[in-house]
Amino acid sequence: MDHQAPPPPHVLIFPLPFQGPVNCMLKLAELLSAAGLHVTFLVTHHIRHRLLRHSPIQTHFSRYPNFQLVSISDGLPEDHPRLGDQCMELFDALESVTKPLYRQMLTSGGTQKPVNCIIADGILGFAIDIAKEIGMPIISFRTISPCFIWVVFCLPKLIESGEIPFRDNDLDSMITSVPGMENFLRKRDLPSFCRSGDVTDPFIRLFSTESQLSPRADGLILNTFEDLEGPLLSHIRTLCPNLYAIGPLHGHLKSRLAVASPPSSGSFRQEDRTCLAWLDQQPPKSVLYVSFGSLATITKDQLMEFWCGLVNSGKRFLWVIRSDCLGSGGDSERQIPAELQEGTKERGYIVDWAPQVEVLAHSSVGGFLTHSGWNSTLESLFEGVPMICWPSFVDQQVNSRFVGEVWGLGLDMKDTCDRVIVEKMVRDLMEERRDEFERSANRMADLARRSVTEGGLSFQDLDRLIQDIRSMSLPASH
Ligand code: UDP
Repeated sequence: MDHQAPPPPHVLIFPLPFQGPVNCMLKLAELLSAAGLHVTFLVTHHIRHRLLRHSPIQTHFSRYPNFQLVSISDGLPEDHPRLGDQCMELFDALESVTKPLYRQMLTSGGTQKPVNCIIADGILGFAIDIAKEIGMPIISFRTISPCFIWVVFCLPKLIESGEIPFRDNDLDSMITSVPGMENFLRKRDLPSFCRSGDVTDPFIRLFSTESQLSPRADGLILNTFEDLEGPLLSHIRTLCPNLYAIGPLHGHLKSRLAVASPPSSGSFRQEDRTCLAWLDQQPPKSVLYVSFGSLATITKDQLMEFWCGLVNSGKRFLWVIRSDCLGSGGDSERQIPAELQEGTKERGYIVDWAPQVEVLAHSSVGGFLTHSGWNSTLESLFEGVPMICWPSFVDQQVNSRFVGEVWGLGLDMKDTCDRVIVEKMVRDLMEERRDEFERSANRMADLARRSVTEGGLSFQDLDRLIQDIRSMSLPASH
């Protein structure tokens, strides 16, 4: 007798409402949609509005009839900046406003089809609580770097051993309570919130709580690959044994869907694609791409140090200066001096927002001055582009240490912002030590590509994830 094929499972994907996590989870959503699963992508109203306004998400995902975009309130007024220092207000509002709405949505059939499995950002602890409450499988996805996740898992140890709060101001002294990192982790490489001098700091509390919750999920997805962070992943597996290392996700999309450069369908800002035409006119590997991501803000003084350093280096550069990069207190449009616009005409190009994945894949780009956000790091690494790291917060301090000291993919400029150092580092990366960095960057890019190609470990882990989700949706007798 013929058995009817079971209907495809329905997965609800719930990213943290920031650019990096949304970009990353949207890539997973596409990979699962392409594998034939039903996917509901749940974002906040604010993010939905920005995606529909600035990204081709609707046209891009129209090829997947089983994909739907759904939104929920984040509890903040529309004009809240949701940036840098004010991020904590978003976390508070998610807990007090979004959590009950989310519970109601799941329990009152607000998703059209019944959900078989939830994939939520691991920092949204309430998603795990609610899934457990209603008996639904949940897989956590930490889109932040695994090296940071491991540091965060070790926060109780760091506090117990007295390594945080810091007893003195010597940021170069070594940290010994993070197994696997004893030989290179300094105080200055710990997440920025460890510098607060207060173990009740809201970020320390937030991340400690999250790490206690993560093992309760049915699995943990990480955007990384074994060849990059194998030893660390072994440590994380001691707490979360069902780990799926499926990165780099944007590389996975390129490889599985056989597209040279997938459109970044998740931009919250209008991409200025004129920079690609400008790059077309530059010599191979001659341009330094500069971007500090979607959230970090800088002071006007720092902006000027970077500008002078870049111009004085004599190298070509493409610089993303977001209109809100000076934070809510400054209007960068008005405060950027006319000479900045003028002085860059010769060798520079400035945009408000770039199609970053395409920029990093462009043959004219030879280096990346980055804030070391995890998506940016992986995007650069996948294209074999060496980095200068200027981290701002959360995972960026530890990411930049790995880039500089562990993987040899570039230079770590953390805690300094001086035009002379900027100039020197740009010259070192693009000229003096170029061969050395290029060699290690190419080697790592090769490993990254292999991991997401058939037979690679990330490729296999994504297959296993899809298979596990399918099994979750089968009736109990199967
Ligand atoms: N990005 C982009 N255009 C830009 C700058 C950034 O598309 O001009 C994208 C970038 O490709 C990455 C994301 O924004 O996927 C930033 O994420 P990341 O984790 O690097 O940093 P965050 O913004 O979360 O600090």
